[in-house]
Amino acid sequence: MSPPKKGRRPRAHVARSPTTKPIPYARQTVEDDDIAAVVEVLRSDWLTTGPKVSEFEKGLARFTGASHAVAVTNGTAARHAAMFAAGIGPGDEVIVPAMTFAATANAVVFQGGTPVFADVDPDTLLLNPAKAEAKITPRTKAIVTVDYAGQPCDYDAFEAVTRKHHLLVIADSAHALGGEYKGRRVGTLADLTTLSFHPVKQITTGEGGMVTTERPEFAAAIERFRNHGITSDHRSRAEQGTWFYEMVELGYNYRITDMQCALGLSQLKKLPGWIARRRAIANQYDRAFADLDTIHPLKVSSDVKHAYHLYVVRLDLERLKGDRATAFAMLRARGVGVNVHYIPVHLHPFYRKRFGTGPDLCPVAEKAYQEILSLPMYASLSDSEVDRVIHAVSEVMEKLAT
Ligand SMILES: *Cc1c(COP(=O)(O)O)cnc(C)c1O
Repeated sequence: MSPPKKGRRPRAHVARSPTTKPIPYARQTVEDDDIAAVVEVLRSDWLTTGPKVSEFEKGLARFTGASHAVAVTNGTAARHAAMFAAGIGPGDEVIVPAMTFAATANAVVFQGGTPVFADVDPDTLLLNPAKAEAKITPRTKAIVTVDYAGQPCDYDAFEAVTRKHHLLVIADSAHALGGEYKGRRVGTLADLTTLSFHPVKQITTGEGGMVTTERPEFAAAIERFRNHGITSDHRSRAEQGTWFYEMVELGYNYRITDMQCALGLSQLKKLPGWIARRRAIANQYDRAFADLDTIHPLKVSSDVKHAYHLYVVRLDLERLKGDRATAFAMLRARGVGVNVHYIPVHLHPFYRKRFGTGPDLCPVAEKAYQEILSLPMYASLSDSEVDRVIHAVSEVMEKLAT
């Protein structure tokens, strides 16, 4: 279609705005200074294992308040490294919430361990501490908390459980960088915490991940693990003028590049402003949907500062004519890129086959899965785009209401 000529085409035609782009559920923000930071590294001596890696680690440790931060290739590698540092191996059980991304459980399997799925709270979709405790056996080594959508879990409750049973808490905080629990920042709330810098998360390095911990022996183990199990890296050998190194255990190449870390450092400066923007968007959604009885946003505890990786609503299917798939299709047709997070992990064919899991294992997560939709949420979402989402959701709910 040719562009409308002034005064020639009927107005209604123009107002249809066929160029309106669909709004995705998540999107990175990359600005000119981010790009310049990456280009600067490309002109430098170190593309990997260079100074930007430790600068990014120090910057993230400072931001979170963690004593140690070790950067790796992605959030899944961070999970694998955390399982290694925790000493998870064959015969060990690790309790994992059913409502999470598959990588949370996969990392346990990488190390030969067995993920034991526990159910979540219906209001928040966060792992329920009592249900997690009920799954503890003599083989249990750790509980994995997932700060689903960006809301930190009830860490005091998990600390009480794990202290009693001598277990580790290994937080999957891929959704929650910038969040807080009782004034303490995500990254300091568990024995080991992992983060992801995938483009949909709060800050990005393209692909990237980090493990934070208070324990120096965990940090040292992860530094070896990301570098083949070798005791020194390329740069420290260059500085010492030596060729000697030893491989003391089996590791991987999970090293992140200096280009990625330069991007991460540049993004980190903007994180507080971006979190504030995410919270402002959530506020607008909360207010807009407060009067609808057909959808319910997840509850937020007064103990936390939510980092809003996702804004998740539950559909009240008893008050609606269609199901979630109907609402999903109607919103997508209106250019709103809704998504579903997540299919409960224990329902995936791999887990059913390998570990004999299946329906009715975690009924709260399974029911929630039928009802959830993630609405667009990212720092560069404009006010008019937020209005478009709110308008589309309200219109679809009105059409589907019984
Ligand atoms: C994104 C994510 C991961 C994995 O991170 P990648 O960087 O994509 O490997 C792990 N767990 C959760 C809950 C995530 O959302």
